Parts: sequence; C-alpha cells; structure tokens
Amino acid sequence: MRFHHAALLAIPLAELGVATAVPSHADEAFQPVASAHPQTRPFLGQWQRLSQRVIETIWSQPSKNEENITKVKKISKTEEQLLPAHTLARYGGDVLLRFNISTEQEAKSLAEASDTLLLDVWEFAADWVDIRLAQELVPSLLGLLPQSLQRSHVPLLRERELAQAIFDTYPTPRDHARHLEASKASLPSPMSHDQRPVGPSLYPQGAETNIFFNDYQPLSVIQPWMRLLTSLFTTHVRLVNVGTSAQGRDIQGLRIGIHPTNDDDPAPPTRKTVLITAGLHAREWISTSTANYIAYTLITGFGKTASITRMLEDFDFVIVPTLNPDGYVYTWETDRLWRKNRQQTSIRFCHGMDLDHSFGFQWDGSSTAGNPCSESYAGEQAFDAVEARALADWARNETENNNVEFIGLMDLHSYSQQILYPYSFSCKDLAPGLEDLEELGYGLQKAIRRAHGHVYEVLPACEGNAIAAGASGKKSYLPQMENRGGSGLDWFYHEMHVRWAYQLKLRDRGTYGFLLPREHIIPTGKEMVDAIMYFGGFLQEAYGSKSRSVEGGGDIEAVTGDEAGRQNEVENEAADKDAEIDASPSAEGGETVVVGHVDAKARQDLRKRR
Ligand SMILES: [Zn+2]
Repeated sequence: MRFHHAALLAIPLAELGVATAVPSHADEAFQPVASAHPQTRPFLGQWQRLSQRVIETIWSQPSKNEENITKVKKISKTEEQLLPAHTLARYGGDVLLRFNISTEQEAKSLAEASDTLLLDVWEFAADWVDIRLAQELVPSLLGLLPQSLQRSHVPLLRERELAQAIFDTYPTPRDHARHLEASKASLPSPMSHDQRPVGPSLYPQGAETNIFFNDYQPLSVIQPWMRLLTSLFTTHVRLVNVGTSAQGRDIQGLRIGIHPTNDDDPAPPTRKTVLITAGLHAREWISTSTANYIAYTLITGFGKTASITRMLEDFDFVIVPTLNPDGYVYTWETDRLWRKNRQQTSIRFCHGMDLDHSFGFQWDGSSTAGNPCSESYAGEQAFDAVEARALADWARNETENNNVEFIGLMDLHSYSQQILYPYSFSCKDLAPGLEDLEELGYGLQKAIRRAHGHVYEVLPACEGNAIAAGASGKKSYLPQMENRGGSGLDWFYHEMHVRWAYQLKLRDRGTYGFLLPREHIIPTGKEMVDAIMYFGGFLQEAYGSKSRSVEGGGDIEAVTGDEAGRQNEVENEAADKDAEIDASPSAEGGETVVVGHVDAKARQDLRKRR
C-alpha cells in the first residue's frame, strides 16, 4: 500500500510530545508541530484518528499569520493565488535585473555602484550579474553606470513578479488542501499498523512519494523530522549537534553510516566522513531541501539499495541542512530574501554576518570592515559569525577526539548551477590537489547531467567569486562582487585537509534564482543524489574499498531512476524557462557514467579547458 511518509513521520512526534528546539513564536507561520500533544500516550490502535489530526494540523490548519493576511488584488488572471498585503508591501516594487558584462570598466562600475547603493547582488558569473532592487532605484543605478550598461540589462523578474515568486515558495492553504486530499486517499487502515506502526512501509518507493518533499519546510518541521529519523533508524542514523546559533537555536545534523562505535571495537579505525552542509545563506532554500532529500534517500536506502548500503558501510555522511537556523527562520517569518545570520553587529539596525566569509583561512574582511549592512559582511575578524565558529569547532573536535577523518565536503548553495573547488580566496594560489579536484568535479558534472540533463559548470571557486571577462583572448579577473577572502570551502580544504571539497550552487540559472519553485525540490534532490552516489563510488576507488563500487551505477537507478516514466514532473522542461539555457548541444548524449572514473572524453575536455 502506498504510504505517505510525512504523515507517518509526524505521528510519533505528536504522540511522543517532541517539542521543537526553536524558540517559541506563538504566531509563527507554518508551525505544525507546535501544537503537538504535550503528554506521552500510546498511539497503537489510534492510527486513523491521529493521522487525521496530524495531517490536518500540518496541511490544512491556517496559521494566525495567514488568517490575518489581507487579501489584495490579483496579479494575474490565470493565477488563482492572491498576494498577501505584507508580501506586496515589502517586495511588490522590487525587480531582479541581469546585467550582461563585457568589459572590465563595466564590471568595475557595477561593483562600485552596488557598494554605493548597498544593492542586493543575488548572483554573478563570468559575464553577468543579477541585482535585486526597488524599481524606483533603477534610474539612480543606471545614472551611475556607463552608457553601455544602461542598455545591456534585462529584467529576470519584474515588479510584482518577484513578490509573486516569493509568495509561491511558501506552502499555501491551497496546497495544504491538495495534500490533505491526497493523504486521506492513501491512508492505511488502522489494523495494518497496529503491529508495526513504524515498520517497513517507511522505506520509500522513492522519496517523491513523500509529501515532505512537495514543499519547502520550515525549521519547526525539519528539526523534529530529523529527530524522528534518528529514533526510527537507530542502526545507521544518529543526531549530531554541531553547536548553537547566535540566537540560541540548535544546529543539528544527521550522521549516517555504520559507525564503528556501533560495534564493540575498543580501537576502531578512523571513520572516513563526508560532510554535507546547507543553508549557510538563509534564502537558499533549495540547498536545505536538497540536503534533506539526500539524507532521506541514504537513510531509507540503507539495506534496500546495494550501492547505498555499501557506501554507508565504507563512509559516514554527516548532513547539516540548516547551518544558519536563525537566518532560515527569519526567511520564513520576516524576510524571504535574508542571506546572513541574525547576529547583532556594531550597527544596531544592520544584523547579520555572512557565514561563508567568516571562516578563518585567508579571511579578509577589509572590503566590508565596519559595514555590517553589507550582504557579505564578514565580521570584524575571522570566525566572528557564531555558526561558522561552531561548525569549525565541531569539525576540529570530531577529528581530534572522535576518531573522525573528513575526506569530503559538499557545501550546498544556490543558484547558478556550478561545481566549485578550492580556492575561493585567490585564483593565483592553486590548490595542491587541483587535478584530483577537477577530475572528481567533472565526474559529478556528468552524473548530474546524466540524471536530468541539467548542466553544471565546473570551475575554481575564485572564478565563481569574480566577474571574469576575456580581453583579447586573455582572461582577466574583474572586481569581486562579494567580499574577498576565503570561504568555508577554503577552510575545510586547507585547515581540515578535506581532500575532496566542493561548493555546489544548485538550480537554477536565474529564471527564479533563490525563489526556485517547489516543483524543483525533488528533481534537484535527485540530481544531487546521483552526484553523491558518484562521489561515494569515487571515494571507494580512491580509498581502496575497491572494485565492488563498479556496478554502483545500476543501483542508483533503483533509488533515483525507478520512476523514469514520471521524470517529467518538473523536468517538464517545456514549462521551465531554464530549458533554453540548459539545452546545450553537449547535454545528455546517452553517455554512461563509470563510477569512480572520469572517462577519456572528460579528461580531454578537462585538458582543453586548462
Ligand atoms: Zn550561498
């Protein structure tokens, strides 16, 4: 019988009275578990009633915030959704512009203008910069720019479109109703679960059957969900507390693997561990949902999918979906486009530090020093940001006291579809393991492309952090749009000696940017699971846990590709404006991915690039 896991996962929460670790906000939107039953009582035999209650609590009960929302005029005739007044008031006049950059002068003046006007630079690549600003500020900005730039920009999201896109990323009452109906239709009978209420049906056909991944989820749902997974899959999942945020929230993660401490080995070997972090930047919701998707797939695939089982026998994965919990909560409650943490700074009205630029390798706060209002404010000294410090301290402690060796890092961000490898602080200093990093990077690229045809660029992070423009065939690196200096990626690579370290910027390429519609949650999760499985196979070869990884690719299909017929959900590229950008001639030519190897063609491509 088809089962809805989110509902199932929610039941014991309600019954066990699991409280959220989030400081209480009585009127917080989307706080389904806040109303969880406070006392413990048995739930066997009460399945139907409880399911009903929890599902209604999660999916259909309007929050106080929603009740207070004043419905305003329609944005589009076809869109039945109404924009709430506060969303419209806050973002209704904002636009997202893409400036196409072709000269150094253009890049320089755009960087200066952004600084002067304290603009919100969303993303940038070799030849473009995306900036969000109020429509009414556009003339002022253009006035500061050279003539050529005044014509070389296009709106990605126009007035009201941006507000609509924001609104669309939150679960809506309409969706709640849809989910409720779907959930009711597939509820199991009470009898079938009297014996084993949390038994085999937890294992997914594929995570896409899980309504948890139909929407972005707030921290108040994610944290109890993680605790529940921990309590249900005790053989291979443990809850990890990385530390505490500036506002006192737990930074939680899941350690997934057959950890040697599960055995009674008095001197267990070093546990090789891959760290997956997400949500350093609060508004990059797809990173958090993707980390959750990876966790769920690995956890429920253990014992069911041979390649996952072997990978978790060989390595541990620690997955931290919300490294910046304060910022994440803030994006749900107050400002969807918040990026930094919520730490107090020297300027009362400018909160927050950029976690990624707070790490203490090649830290350089000079460009934002004394300017806490900057979106990439790095603090006044390295590790000023509480959550960056917490992660670093935790990682050090793991290696020094807990027998852990970090061999891989995947730091998930959005957007622009890039696979970045060290260093980010400089393009002149080459990472010692450059060739290895590139080799695995191109392997990840192929695994992703194979999954869904989406193209991710592979490049050193320094290039991802600068606008580069070719001048007479020579590549020159133009002014950085963000703070200079190292990042979390650099710190883990250099200080923690994580040999295989990457920062991945997920979908899309600017169609929606940070406001990626929820329909991308599962497809993005799938392509990253494919990347992770490739990563695992590669590590198995690199660390000699051997040839058995070779047929790993076939197994992945069992988890991520068993729904070939259904792959058209959002991969319904016709509806995806991104498709035009992604449909490069090289995309998906039926190539096969050999786990653990970069094939000859990829190597050739690699050589050509260098
Ligand atoms: Zn980011």
